[in-house]
Amino acid sequence: MLHIFLCPKCFNYRIVSRKPDAICFHCGAKLYKSNIDYVEYIDMSEQEREKYKENFIKRIRAYQDEIDSVLTDSEVNK
Ligand SMILES: [Zn+2]
Repeated sequence: MLHIFLCPKCFNYRIVSRKPDAICFHCGAKLYKSNIDYVEYIDMSEQEREKYKENFIKRIRAYQDEIDSVLTDSEVNK
């Protein structure tokens, strides 16, 4: 099972298998699991990925102080 993760610092996507906690290759930050399926991700266009990422960035900025408790899968969605 593959999962799509996002980095809260440099906002790169990463596809992760199995590991429950993934670390960003670029900056070493702990990644957040998105609620995108691998299959969905593969189907997404560049624009859709960018849009999802922008929403993720907004969430991160809005909840910066309490990110660990607030940022759940449902918070990241849309
Ligand atoms: Zn990173």
